[in-house]
Amino acid sequence: MYNFEYAKPDNLETAKSLMAREGAQALAGGQSLTPTMKQRLAQPELLVDITGLPELKGVARVDGGVRIGGGVRHVEVERSAEVQAAAPALAQLAGKIGDPQVRNRGTLGGSIANNDPSACYPAAVLALDGVVSTSNGRDIAAADFFQGLYETALEEGELVTAVTFKAPMRAAWMKFPQPASRFSLVGVFVAQFADGHRVAVTGASESGVFRHGDLEAALNTGGDLDSVAVSPSGLIADLHGTPEYRANLIRVQAKRGAAAMV
Ligand SMILES: Cc1cc2nc3c(=O)[nH]c(=O)nc-3n(C[C@H](O)[C@H](O)[C@H](O)COP(=O)(O)OP(=O)(O)OC[C@H]3O[C@@H](n4cnc5c(N)ncnc54)[C@H](O)[C@@H]3O)c2cc1C
Repeated sequence: MYNFEYAKPDNLETAKSLMAREGAQALAGGQSLTPTMKQRLAQPELLVDITGLPELKGVARVDGGVRIGGGVRHVEVERSAEVQAAAPALAQLAGKIGDPQVRNRGTLGGSIANNDPSACYPAAVLALDGVVSTSNGRDIAAADFFQGLYETALEEGELVTAVTFKAPMRAAWMKFPQPASRFSLVGVFVAQFADGHRVAVTGASESGVFRHGDLEAALNTGGDLDSVAVSPSGLIADLHGTPEYRANLIRVQAKRGAAAMV
């Protein structure tokens, strides 16, 4: 490690003024940021610990969905009665992230702000038509929020304060974990709404989470998912799998998800 300043504000306004300082970076659960700092891939001059901000806490039912604070930890989402009632698949997703330590520290806001291409939450935010609320007073639709590998619509110093998820009629989260890291090698979130299905895929693409229109169309028309051609173009190639392997997994996981929706 190297020297840096540390501050732990107890309200959002103070956090915002600290985040406006040059070299400031938010620290939530530290499950992604701390390893990054150890590797010198991030060297913030000021760590603004946002775990004490009441404005980022809490889970509440809202009209047609559920609103989860940006500072809510994975274990809290997993155990939330409100989340289990509105979208049980979302609670299950949270319960399958990493290991108990990660789930006890890591937060929803930290996960989506980081936007790791293999992270689980972005698939749920996209499939459940989520809206990301921020400390700048913006409400950003999921489709606009995720902008590529580790890129989001967040501006410098802007914090995720909450995410509002729509409650689906039925949904399922199908994670095929990479056994060493426990992230998604391929994860598919399938959701059904009155106006159709939404299928969001994480872990597979070089540019991060995306929706699969052909799989959605097949589900909307009652078609056979086996007949959907999933292109390997743009999918990740690494020691864990080829693009073709991931393309096949997308279809297999979507099919399993469609069968498992509750
Ligand atoms: C061993 C291990 C296994 C894991 N397995 C999985 C897995 O299976 N699936 C999965 O999805 N993830 C996994 N993760 C990542 C985990 O979910 C992290 O918790 C998450 O990616 C980051 O959340 P955090 O609260 O720890 O954020 P931090 O590490 O504190 O911050 C991450 C980034 O987000 C920024 N940030 C944090 N909070 C906010 C906010 N509210 N607004 C704006 N910016 C913010 C920080 O400045 C930093 O840039 C794993 C991590 C580890 C270490």
